[in-house]
Amino acid sequence: MNGQTEVASLDLGIQGMSCTACAARIEKALAKMAGVQDAAVSYASRKAWITYEPGDRNPNDIKDKIRALGFGVSEPGDRSADLAEMRTLRLRLILSAVLSLPLLWAMASHYEALSAVPVPEWVSNGWVQLSLATLIQLGIGLPFYQNAWSALRAKTANMDVLVALGTSAAYLYSHYMVFAHGWSPAGAANGSHHAGTASLYFDTSAVVITAVLLGKYMEARSAARALREGDSFAKLKADEISVVRDGSVRTVPASNVRDGDIVLVATGELIPVDGIVTGGQSEADESLLTGESRAVPKQPGSRVWAGTRNQGDTLRIRTETTGEGTLLSRIDLLLRQAQAAKTSIQRKVDRISAVFVPVMLLAAAVTFLLWYLVFDPGNASRASLSALAVLLAACPCALGLATPISLVIAAGKLARRGIVIKDASALEGMARLDVILLDKTGTLTEGKPCVSAIQPSPGWSAAAVLRLAAAAEGASQHPYAFAIREDARRRGLVVPTAENLLEWPGYGVSAECPEGRIEVGGKQLAAQQNWSGLKRALDYTAIRESQGETVLLAALDGVCIGAIALGDRLKPSSAQAVQALKREGLEVWLATGDGAGPAAAVAKEAGIQRVEAGMLPEGKLQLIRSLQKQGKGVAMAGDGWNDAPALAAADAGFAMAGGTDAALDAGHVALLRPSLLGIAGALRASRLTVRNMKQNLGFAFMYNLVIVPVAAAGLMEPWMAGAAMALSSVTVVGNALRLSGQLSRSLD
Ligand code: ADP
Ligand code: MG
Repeated sequence: MNGQTEVASLDLGIQGMSCTACAARIEKALAKMAGVQDAAVSYASRKAWITYEPGDRNPNDIKDKIRALGFGVSEPGDRSADLAEMRTLRLRLILSAVLSLPLLWAMASHYEALSAVPVPEWVSNGWVQLSLATLIQLGIGLPFYQNAWSALRAKTANMDVLVALGTSAAYLYSHYMVFAHGWSPAGAANGSHHAGTASLYFDTSAVVITAVLLGKYMEARSAARALREGDSFAKLKADEISVVRDGSVRTVPASNVRDGDIVLVATGELIPVDGIVTGGQSEADESLLTGESRAVPKQPGSRVWAGTRNQGDTLRIRTETTGEGTLLSRIDLLLRQAQAAKTSIQRKVDRISAVFVPVMLLAAAVTFLLWYLVFDPGNASRASLSALAVLLAACPCALGLATPISLVIAAGKLARRGIVIKDASALEGMARLDVILLDKTGTLTEGKPCVSAIQPSPGWSAAAVLRLAAAAEGASQHPYAFAIREDARRRGLVVPTAENLLEWPGYGVSAECPEGRIEVGGKQLAAQQNWSGLKRALDYTAIRESQGETVLLAALDGVCIGAIALGDRLKPSSAQAVQALKREGLEVWLATGDGAGPAAAVAKEAGIQRVEAGMLPEGKLQLIRSLQKQGKGVAMAGDGWNDAPALAAADAGFAMAGGTDAALDAGHVALLRPSLLGIAGALRASRLTVRNMKQNLGFAFMYNLVIVPVAAAGLMEPWMAGAAMALSSVTVVGNALRLSGQLSRSLD
């Protein structure tokens, strides 16, 4: 073993969270468990993502812990648990509304405008009101108490604490009245039902509970609508797969398929595994995975990915990766991680909400005292109603929902278009960029360079040079390595097996062959290793580079044996993408490890003015740091493979998918389509998203700033405060849904 601790990750759907304080509570409790490395719980997407050491922990301990806290646990892609939760919520809402009706009816007699409404004797009966209110308070309202209790036990306060406290106060007060004074015509004589000392507040507690349930139901419904899109990846996973075993075709559960299995995929079916086509001529629709809308031709030898759709003839596929290892599953996981993560705005909001509830409890107490002692001395009911209104107006739910809901929507939308946000904070970074550095090979260019010419040193043949170079490049993932191996294969050369294959990013490779030590790389490598016999090769390099080509040099035991010229074409979309980035207000730079000649040629063709050539990976890193020191927001787009440190250091690092899936491991954003066009779209999307988050926060804060003082001034009945509180969450979710539409329009 390598001494590193093994880490497993667990994804769960969570039911029963009533606001972000619940998510924070689960997070805290899980983080405290031994063997749990990290836990992120998202209230907005109702999901949890946990990493743990499988030796110390098993998933069931973690699930049990969450259940013990009073929440439900489900499979992450399984929406049925959420649907069941929503159905229960709807049932509670309907029952609560129906039972509240007679209480509201009785209220009609207290208002002048409603005097025409006949109020039967029984609805005004105190005992009837008591029974109905008790059913609502202790039956339908029970979950509020349960949640409030578990929150208090964890020394936090959440929305349930406020609701439970407020409605209980109203309920118990009326209770006391019924038992102390029997039935009293609730203040009818004074024209205001809360003015007389014998007033009942059953309508208040019942209507508040109904209003809160209505708000929660509307919030849950809109959130479910907003989240549906993000679940599209889970739907692309196959349950059953047709495989060829012992010469016959059998349908087996997806979990039964192994690497190496031959899988059959008929027309119109989803491809269930990552693998290589071994039979059939067809086309695949990869749009759901990478956002690429054109159908991609597939024939024997082509790579195919799980989650794409076969559109032509039946394909035979040799399985290379199944289950959690497929590109689809990895993207899905990254998406869910990003959705559960916190932006830096959110971290600030969390700090505010943590003190918000205690502060509001205090505000309610102060309101009570001011009314009871100063404004209306001795009138306990007036004082408690105002305090109650403050309690109900003070829930920070909308605050907790404000930024995560926008993040969840944006990450989902972008992922469907082949733009995978891996780091939530990068969304904020992307919204304020000044400069973008573009790598050349594989980023601006096709990244499929071909050997265009070979110049052997005296005494060597082109084939001999190529053969040794291909041996040394045997293990490299660099596009140049692919080009050299491909050319050797095309010429039918027998490549010797090499040992001690080493790679120095930005320089080149080396290896040991029976012939001796081979080195292949750029001019820097030759200079650094002090090769001899370089003169001719360097002259050749200068000529070729001025024509826009790249030249690699090869040496055997420190003596140059030849030069290999490689050509690479600009991607058709690159020039257009550079224009789009400039339109977004960015300075576009080319930063490449390649020589000045090829760099200048590519920059000219792509329409880039600033060129930094001959940069080692650390050079790119330093360039980014120095630009950042000047106060600039810096983005970097690279191949995610040898540019990984620079991608990580940038404010937004875009990793381009190439032949390898290294893009998923590096940077903050993975571009699954091999085009830079996605970046401009991602930038627009990030701006819209950050703006939406700020609007949501504005709504949430405004609402509290306005309603709480109004409630404290006694200008608002408690049920109105409760309804307004519910409405603020609905407003935030509604605004986030608007973002969903904006993103679709700006991305398509
Ligand atoms: P780029 O910005 O063009 O992607 P890289 O950092 O990938 O630049 O590489 C810089 C230079 O290092 C290349 O131009 C090449 O000379 C050399 N180099 C890097 N990797 C290899 C390799 N596997 N084989 C040969 N040369 C390499
Ligand atoms: Mg590169």
